[in-house]
Amino acid sequence: MTIKTRFAPSPTGYLHVGGARTALFSWLYAKKKGGKFILRIEDTDLERSTQASVDAIFDGMNWLGLTHDEGPFYQTQRFDRYKEIIQQLLDQGDAYHCTCTREELDTLREQQKANKEKPRYNGKCKAANHSEGVIRFKNPVDGEVVINDLVKGDIVVANKELDDLIIARSDGTPTYNLTVVVDDMDMGISHVIRGDDHINNTPRQINILNALGAELPKYAHVPMILGSDGARLSKRHGAVSVMQYRDDGFLPDALLNYLVRLGWSHGDQEVFSIDEMIELFDLDGCNVSASTFNPEKLLWLNHQYIMNDEPEYVAKHLEWHMNNQGLDVANGPALVEVVKAQRERSKTLVEMAAASHYFYQDFESYDEKAAKKNFKAGSDEVLQALLDAFSQTEEWDGEKLHQIVLDTAEAMELKLGKVAQPLRVAISGAGVSPAIDITLSLLGREKTLARMQTAIEFIKEKLDK
Ligand code: GLU
Repeated sequence: MTIKTRFAPSPTGYLHVGGARTALFSWLYAKKKGGKFILRIEDTDLERSTQASVDAIFDGMNWLGLTHDEGPFYQTQRFDRYKEIIQQLLDQGDAYHCTCTREELDTLREQQKANKEKPRYNGKCKAANHSEGVIRFKNPVDGEVVINDLVKGDIVVANKELDDLIIARSDGTPTYNLTVVVDDMDMGISHVIRGDDHINNTPRQINILNALGAELPKYAHVPMILGSDGARLSKRHGAVSVMQYRDDGFLPDALLNYLVRLGWSHGDQEVFSIDEMIELFDLDGCNVSASTFNPEKLLWLNHQYIMNDEPEYVAKHLEWHMNNQGLDVANGPALVEVVKAQRERSKTLVEMAAASHYFYQDFESYDEKAAKKNFKAGSDEVLQALLDAFSQTEEWDGEKLHQIVLDTAEAMELKLGKVAQPLRVAISGAGVSPAIDITLSLLGREKTLARMQTAIEFIKEKLDK
């Protein structure tokens, strides 16, 4: 059997972390089993679906690297097929037109409630042979539906609990439960992995699949993601859009790692490479109950990834942030080297980018506190001595430059900090930067010498006042 999973978002908003986790589980399962992952856009709700939201889904999936093997399929392009199936169900006697008025429905409901039955309208409508009105699926009256859920275990629902659901609205458009069934059947989906908010739909979908004589997919319903207050994760808990995490400086791999752990575990391992996730992921390891979103843990994980991922990978994503912050990375050192220099102290790429501006662009002013502390009487002389020595070195080598800083401190009988700190502020504009040898070598000769000159003049001017 070919394993086929799908991610089937409705394009009515951004791609949120809950959707991304569903997509990830489906993607991982397909990858693990050597199967196929399908992307299907469920855009039949014409009023709420937007192109912007379709684009947001693609952007999110691309950024996360959750590539699909088939699709994207759009349900709005499959209306003819849905019509065909609705007609088939009508012809088979498994569906019927229903034109009951609201009042009639209410009366029927009342009667059936009194008899402890779910509403069925066939008694009235089937005989009437209406040509207009909604079309309902004729749900079996007897027996039960068993869902062998791969996460939740067996779930049994009595058919008398299920009403005759609408499969086509009065304007002829098909409803979610019909389209999803037709697509899962036509696309040969073997495993439906989705949020457990869909669990109520599953017995209905199984009954329609049975009426169509289709093979049933296996179902795996994954629990919801909650905010720290126990309510379903929403905007008020902070960022929930995948792209917001990109903008806030998270690495896609860190978010994927966080999401995989949110609802799945493998012993007490926390950090997984994508390959490890593919190897170890299984539906058996999924949690049965809801998980709570923990932004601090995500931040911790992001820092782990920034520190331990391939610097080239981090650099690729850092470049996006540098551009986003208006910097041209052609005007400075190789980003890979900046990543190596900055990764210990950067929890996000936004922080890393912000702390790396001075490698690519002159700063407008010195950090006030740092300048006050380090640009004092005598600092100009220290910087002048360094500048003279630096100017004379042929080779711009970090180790050599560091030796010059040490020698200058010794010659001037100063503590190292009294020499290195003014230098650091002079060239970076602030009191914090990577080790001075690294900062110097990344910045390069030209920028270093020019900035030292500027700092000397700045200090002299300040002292004159
Ligand atoms: N389109 C549905 C949603 O976005 C998902 C349907 C499904 O996975 O069966 O909630």
